[in-house]
Amino acid sequence: MPRAHARWRRGPRYTAAAMFNPRSIKHCRACGAPAQYAVPADDNRERATCTACGTIHYENPLNVVGTVPVWEDRVLLCRRNIEPRHGFWTLPAGFMELGESTAQGALRETIEEAGANVEMQELFTVLNVVRVGQVHFFYRARMLDTRLAPGPETIEAQLFGEAEIPWEQIAFRTVKETLQRYFDDRRSGQFGIHCADIG
Ligand code: ZN
Repeated sequence: MPRAHARWRRGPRYTAAAMFNPRSIKHCRACGAPAQYAVPADDNRERATCTACGTIHYENPLNVVGTVPVWEDRVLLCRRNIEPRHGFWTLPAGFMELGESTAQGALRETIEEAGANVEMQELFTVLNVVRVGQVHFFYRARMLDTRLAPGPETIEAQLFGEAEIPWEQIAFRTVKETLQRYFDDRRSGQFGIHCADIG
């Protein structure tokens, strides 16, 4: 499962190796010379360091941002048209881009993957997926209408009541955890913010 998270939705630069293998950087991004892993002065862990220009390439966790789009009592899921987990269902989500906030990224992904017209609501889950070096943030979102226009990464987008959720065909553990907490909170009548570590 963690390997599935490693390539949430984009190309090879998000492979598990590129993201999480601590020795994955072979060449300097600044000058192209070979990089070597070593502990820089005043640091406490190995970093890819250029053997020519000395540039240190820091590797840090990536943020995945998405929404729980809701219309009346139903939740919007997207069926993935890309690997990993092609054909499985997910909440709209993807890697955060530079220049946007977590909420802006979540909204963008919701538009890109489902073409849904939503009003962003509160942050709902913060899920650490330490083994693949990711943090997933899901916001609740209110659908303003039921018009959908799935993008190329989505086979179909569909609304599901709680009893209809295809639990065995959910693409990622963070999505499953978020959906379970959503329905639990809805039953209790109060939505919180849930932080958890996904093993
Ligand atoms: Zn270099």
